[in-house]
Amino acid sequence: MTDATPASLAARVRDDEIRFHELEEHADADTAAAARRRLVSETADADVDVLGEYAFDAADAHGSNIENMIGAVQVPLGVAGPVSIDGGALDGERYLPLATTEGALVASINRGCSVVNDAGGATARVTKSGMTRAPVFRVGDVAEAEALVAWVRDNEAALREAAESTTSHGELLDVTPYVVGNNVYLRFRYDTKDAMGMNMATIATREACDVIEAETDAALVALSGNLCSDKKPAAINAVEGRGRSVSADVEVPREVVEERLHTTPEAITEINTRKNLVGSAKAGGLGFNAHVANAVAAMFLATGQDEAQVVEGANAITTAEATPEGDLYLSVSLASLEVGTVGGGTKLPTQAAGLDVLGVRGGGDPAGSNGDALAEAIAVGALAGELSLLAALGSRHLSSAHADLGR
Ligand code: NAP
Repeated sequence: MTDATPASLAARVRDDEIRFHELEEHADADTAAAARRRLVSETADADVDVLGEYAFDAADAHGSNIENMIGAVQVPLGVAGPVSIDGGALDGERYLPLATTEGALVASINRGCSVVNDAGGATARVTKSGMTRAPVFRVGDVAEAEALVAWVRDNEAALREAAESTTSHGELLDVTPYVVGNNVYLRFRYDTKDAMGMNMATIATREACDVIEAETDAALVALSGNLCSDKKPAAINAVEGRGRSVSADVEVPREVVEERLHTTPEAITEINTRKNLVGSAKAGGLGFNAHVANAVAAMFLATGQDEAQVVEGANAITTAEATPEGDLYLSVSLASLEVGTVGGGTKLPTQAAGLDVLGVRGGGDPAGSNGDALAEAIAVGALAGELSLLAALGSRHLSSAHADLGR
């Protein structure tokens, strides 16, 4: 094993002596990745050596974060801010880490942060929390479906005991049944503290399902029945929430809107209504916002979140009002932001450093407070992004209106 080289390992894969995905059994993780790069390079007829430049321990990543590793993709990391945040769990000035390849994104959020600071800072709060897993059961008919719903209602304590036996941090909050003919979906919702919690909730729910199958006639068809709903656009997440439901807002004085953003509270309010609300409604969209996905995706990448959950993370509504005093009130509410500061990709060193920028790495004290703080920081990043983009649209609108009027 120790004298294996990338070339010799690649040759053995080519000769069908060892399998591509088992290379780590024959060499250290870096050498295994280098051997795969050779094989991929030959098949693709491309030089992929640059993928071998990475700063994390391949042995740590292998198995827990990646399979068939050939290297790493680097994403540039910038910061916006520091921005002043008055949160339930995060208080003070923070730089917001943003990993992206989209030029102008960091500059836009940075401009929003600067205006938020001029307005005295943003307020942010997590208003609901709970990671869900919804297994689907097959029952005989709707009478059996009703009986299962009643059984779940009467036996929630037994389900809680089974589920919580698998985790020292997770707590089962509730189980909500949904019936469709002879299908029964049970949406289990957990407080997963500082973990995003998808593995935790899945393992705990499996244990509870064993109790249901032992005690009732229901047959488990799938541990996830898609009513959870993970990594798919779904109205249930927009209405009921999933992960953290988090809101951020700011009141920007009229003179700051006019001098810093070259627009007015009324123009921003009109654009928000006609674009983010009416336009999104006409489009049948779930995201009633301008570009919340930008801040969510960039902060997810920077802090080791599960990037596919940007689907739910962007499930946000932006509101804007001109206040009676003539100032601008702006808010963004993210219904289903699934984030964690332990587990998953948060352990990788560059992602852990991203969490350190915010001061939210690892388990919080009390447990769950770091997860809440990360959610609040992302919400403020989204708020700054909304402010900046709506203002950009508003100032263009004003300048073109001026040009039209001037003719
Ligand atoms: P995890 O790493 O699987 O679990 C979190 C672990 O952290 C638990 O073992 C927990 O211990 C421990 N922990 C220590 N301190 C904690 C604290 N303060 N708060 C909460 N937990 C603490 O992570 P996860 O968040 O459950 O799952 C995230 C992973 O799931 C990601 O890699 C993601 O890509 C993946 N994922 C899985 C599915 C799926 O269906 N399975 C779907 C989507 C994504 P105890 O539980 O013993 O208390």
